[in-house]
Amino acid sequence: MSKSLQAIRGMNDILPEQTPLWRYFEGTVARLLDNYGYKQIRMPIVEFTELFKRSIGEVTDIVEKEMYTFEDRNGDSLTLRPEGTAACVRAVLEHGITGGGQVQKLWYIGPMFRHERPQKGRYRQFHQIGLEVFNLDGPDIDAELIIMTWRLWGELGIRDAVKLELNSLGTSESRGRYREALVEYLSAHHDKLDEDSQRRLKTNPLRVLDTKNADTQAVLVDAPKMADYLDDESRAHFEGLKARLDAVGIPYVLNPKLVRGLDYYSKTVFEWVTDKLGAQGTVCAGGRYDGLVEQMGGKPTPGVGFAMGIERLVLMLETLEQIPEEISRQVDVYLCAFGEAADLAGLALAERVRDQLPNLRLQVNAGAGSFKSQFKKADKSGALYALILGDDEMAQQVVGFKPLRGQGEQQSIAWDALAAHLATCVVQG
Ligand code: ATP
Ligand code: MG
Repeated sequence: MSKSLQAIRGMNDILPEQTPLWRYFEGTVARLLDNYGYKQIRMPIVEFTELFKRSIGEVTDIVEKEMYTFEDRNGDSLTLRPEGTAACVRAVLEHGITGGGQVQKLWYIGPMFRHERPQKGRYRQFHQIGLEVFNLDGPDIDAELIIMTWRLWGELGIRDAVKLELNSLGTSESRGRYREALVEYLSAHHDKLDEDSQRRLKTNPLRVLDTKNADTQAVLVDAPKMADYLDDESRAHFEGLKARLDAVGIPYVLNPKLVRGLDYYSKTVFEWVTDKLGAQGTVCAGGRYDGLVEQMGGKPTPGVGFAMGIERLVLMLETLEQIPEEISRQVDVYLCAFGEAADLAGLALAERVRDQLPNLRLQVNAGAGSFKSQFKKADKSGALYALILGDDEMAQQVVGFKPLRGQGEQQSIAWDALAAHLATCVVQG
């Protein structure tokens, strides 16, 4: 027997019963970003492997062990994008749209690919909405990003369930000095570190701060703190950000261990975390990356951005039961017709109504069927009303208008008056 065909582990179908919630979430974010003046950019899903090595950094989890890399038919090494920032920077450089200090406020949405161990909230194909701002170097824009997400959590009804964690990594100079101090301290306690941290101590020492190992965490208690190594500029930037969050009333906790997995961050880093999703608690993460564009071959260009995981946020809406009622109903009106003449009249009538009410969700029964079977389908569709066209209605040029959710009796409506009548009783999305 042949093996049945299956999707790749960690790569999920999003089924029709789930897509309304996804579209609600994506639509809410898109509207919010439009309102704050951000523009959408769309990049390819595949890029040269070199792009990710150069931007994300060779000694990060992503590049070391999570990328989907393959050779194409030309022998080029390509990679399914594990994140969006690298491709976005590549795109703005390639098209010269950040040259001469041009400000760009961009966002993107789409699938990302990482070969991780699949579990709740962690998949191999997952989806992000990300945002990048170029050529603004002040804390005001860092604050705007956080304020926008705060508004989003409010609109989605999940604000009470997320917490903002904040840190500053300083400029690359101050981070360099801090790194030296940290390496010196950790080297003196080398034997007490877990194996992974011993390796990171050589390759990417800041990542040791990220460890989940209890023994290493104990060593870290007395380790030097980044905050003590911040240069004046980074310190002022961080204070400027905090003052703005205070002004808007956004609570935050300072987390000196927040370093983020990627090499390219500087100054501000932040994460929105929740305790509602178990271990995969970060729903949105980002920070400033003032050195990245130059590192990728462009002119020095400040940048700041974040990405949120759509799966985790959709899961949160489900867990907290913050699912708006109107998205569960996908049909407003269901038209049932009986007999050939009624079929034709029904089709024409439906199109006339659609002309007048372009947002009405009107489903016309397909596949004919008895009175009973069509009614069953109408009910199952979730529609609020059924429209009925039989011999009697045809003779009088009316349509039977039947509430399906117990809002009154059936009545007859003249064909000409149908659209106007529907407009009064269906709230159109
Ligand atoms: P984590 O610490 O959970 O591995 P990360 O630091 O690797 O996250 P980022 O690269 O900052 O994640 O991506 C931003 C967001 O994308 C994360 O906060 C999370 O919501 C989401 N995300 C990242 N990896 C995955 C994944 N494998 N599956 C689902 N969502 C993910
Ligand atoms: Mg990760």
